[in-house]
Amino acid sequence: MATLGNAKNTIEVLQKYNFNFQKKFGQNFLIDANILEKIVDAAQVTEEDCVLEIGPGIGTMTQYLAERAKTVIAVEIDKNLIPILQDTLSPYANVTIMNEDILKVDINHIVDKYNGGKPIKVVANLPYYITTPIIMALFEKHVALQSITIMVQKEVADRMQVGPGTKDYGALSLAVQYYAHPEIVVRVPASCFMPRPNVDSTVIRLTRYEKPPVEVTDEVYLFAVIRASFNQRRKTLVNGLTNAGNLGISRDNIISVLEEMQLSPTVRGETLTLEQFAEFSNCLLSKRA
Ligand code: SAM
Repeated sequence: MATLGNAKNTIEVLQKYNFNFQKKFGQNFLIDANILEKIVDAAQVTEEDCVLEIGPGIGTMTQYLAERAKTVIAVEIDKNLIPILQDTLSPYANVTIMNEDILKVDINHIVDKYNGGKPIKVVANLPYYITTPIIMALFEKHVALQSITIMVQKEVADRMQVGPGTKDYGALSLAVQYYAHPEIVVRVPASCFMPRPNVDSTVIRLTRYEKPPVEVTDEVYLFAVIRASFNQRRKTLVNGLTNAGNLGISRDNIISVLEEMQLSPTVRGETLTLEQFAEFSNCLLSKRA
C-alpha cells in the first residue's frame, strides 16, 4: 500500500473502494504531505506516545502518526471507511482501528486500556460540525492528555485564543484558556483537502496545563456562570445570569458581588477576563451557600 498524503494515491484508494464522501461526517481528506509533517511535528509525537486520532478518514495522517508513535488509536464513525483503513494501515502493527462515534465512546476507558491511564496526545483533522463538543468533552471529562493538536475552521481557532473585548471572545475561549495554552501552528488553504472545504482551516495546539491558571472553588459552577453570561450576549451580566435560573443566586447578590469587585452593575460578560470570571464565580458561590 502506497503512502497517502497526495492527490494521486488518495484518488486511487477512493476509486478502489468506490468510496462516496459523506457530507454529514465532514469528510475532507488531507492531500498535502507538507501540512501533514507540520501537524505531526507540532504534536511532538515520539515513540513513547500513545496517540488518539479522531476521524482517521482513509488513514492518511494515521500513517504519519504510526511512523512516530508507540501506539495510535484511530476512532472513525463511518463504517464504510473501516475496510479502507484496514488496508492502508496494514503495514502498521501499532495501530488500533475503532468504528465508533467519538462523542459516544468512553475516552477515559481508552486511555486506561491502551496507555495504562497515562496522558495521551490527541491529534485530529476534526470534522468541523463537532469541534466544540469534542474539545469540551476532552477537557470537562478530565481525560488524561498532554496536548490536543487539531485542524479546525480558522474562525474557531481564532475564538480559542482571543481575550476579552473582541467579538470572537466567548465560552470556548475561556474553556480552552482555563485548561490549556493555545498556539496557532499553521493556516491551511482549502486546496490541501479533497474535496475542498468552503472554509479556511487552521492547525492549533492546545497544551494542557498541569494546574489551571486560576483557582476556582467549583469548576462546574464557573462554566455554568460563563455559559449563562454568553448565552445572552447583548444583555448585561446581571440580566443574563438572573435569566439563567440555574445558578441559585439572586439578582441583588449578583449586583453586590459586582460591587465588591468594583465592576459596574451594567457590565457585560464579554468584558471579563478569565481571572475575573474565576473571582466572580467564587464570590457568587460563597453567597449561595
Ligand atoms: N484524518 C483524515 C484526514 O486528515 O485526511 C480525515 C479527516 S475528515 C476532516 C474527518 C473524519 O472524521 C472523517 O473521516 C469522518 O468520517 C470522521 N468523523 C466524523 N464524525 C465523527 C465522529 N463523531 N466520531 C469519529 N469520527 C468522525
